[in-house]
Amino acid sequence: MRCPYCSTLDTKVIDSRMNQTGDITRRRRECPKCEGRFTTYERVEEVMPMVIKKDGRRENYDREKVMDGVRKSCQKRPVTAQRMEECVAKIEKRIQSYGLKEVPSKTIGQMVMAELHRMDKVAYIRFSSVYREFHDVEEFVAELQVQPIGEEAPETPLFSFAEESPNGPSGPNGPNGKTPNA
Ligand SMILES: [Zn+2]
Repeated sequence: MRCPYCSTLDTKVIDSRMNQTGDITRRRRECPKCEGRFTTYERVEEVMPMVIKKDGRRENYDREKVMDGVRKSCQKRPVTAQRMEECVAKIEKRIQSYGLKEVPSKTIGQMVMAELHRMDKVAYIRFSSVYREFHDVEEFVAELQVQPIGEEAPETPLFSFAEESPNGPSGPNGPNGKTPNA
């Protein structure tokens, strides 16, 4: 099992226990190189369930599609490739922990949103703003390729309106010349 911190392959198990139904092993691991500790949840049979598409079709789970969505959302963000990998691995483990034969693609997308929210707020906003419309990671990725989000837009339009408002200093949100965020 690869160390999520330094990618060393040779990590050792320091604690191991089964869940109640006996199909998932929770392993506490330690990396001898960087001393990083992490937990893995391993199904006895490490298979991903089939993915139920929005239109009802079933298809094999494709890690690259999820990875692609995460990668696109994190473009130019201070998120390392390793953390993205970790994020997807975490989502997969969680899906596996449900022990289902099939999982809606929508559920996977929601998990991606939850993980991105924890990891990087901008990436989360990029993903969720487009994803909410499509409910499908694949379509989301296609959409992002057409129009990159957050590239052209000014970074902080909300914080400068009080001073730069073309309507003068007595705008609806800035009475008495006070800056709301000051
Ligand atoms: Zn390590």
